[in-house]
Amino acid sequence: MAWPLQLPAAWERDGLILGAMHLLLIEDDAVIARELLLRWRGRGWQVRACASLAEAGSALAGDLSGQAVELVVLDLGLPDGDGVQWLARFRQQDRRTPVIVLTARDRVADRVLGLKIGADDYLVKPFDPEELDARIEALQRRGQVGRGEWLQFGRLRWLGGEGRAYVDLQVLELMPREFEVLGLLISRAPRLLPRRVLIDALAERNLEVGDSAAEVYVSRLRRKLAGSGTTIRTLRGFGYVLALADSGDPG
Ligand code: CA
Repeated sequence: MAWPLQLPAAWERDGLILGAMHLLLIEDDAVIARELLLRWRGRGWQVRACASLAEAGSALAGDLSGQAVELVVLDLGLPDGDGVQWLARFRQQDRRTPVIVLTARDRVADRVLGLKIGADDYLVKPFDPEELDARIEALQRRGQVGRGEWLQFGRLRWLGGEGRAYVDLQVLELMPREFEVLGLLISRAPRLLPRRVLIDALAERNLEVGDSAAEVYVSRLRRKLAGSGTTIRTLRGFGYVLALADSGDPG
């Protein structure tokens, strides 16, 4: 495989390589949706825009077969229902994907309710797209983006709620830090997981590791993934990438 990876320029920002995030936008205002789509795609993010809750439901149901949605931006007033109720149901299903709520200024009660039932942040309309981007990036830095309850990559499945990971139907025997590292890697695969994001995200879960220890956990995990059809590549000075193994790879 050609290596090192080519990093798109948009990935490097404030010294942190953010990678192409996978976002779901639920917004029925065509003007706002179009502006955000153009903006985010221009940044190299993968965006799916839905104009109704029904459409969003099918986009999220498709999660398992494709790359998991890492962050939801949710408008509250939608043609087929209320975003607050939708968010409540979403959280009841134990789905932990971060959600940023967009709300009109006259719906202050909604936005308070939204936070109570599990929005990670909110923004009042009309808003500055720069500010929305800043909030998205803040969630990403705190390691909250990419923490869906289950993730899949190739033959690997990672179930946050169960605390287990599988290769096909076989349980992978992992120590807690290895499990978390795998979740972080899968959430970004096949994109780069910056080393700093990895270390910060582990610290956030009270699983502190030093710089060299991070390398140790990654190496152990790499060995445990042998035969899984995936492999962890190290991009020196940047971080790690979980990739599908080539036929010639030991993984
Ligand atoms: Ca609306």
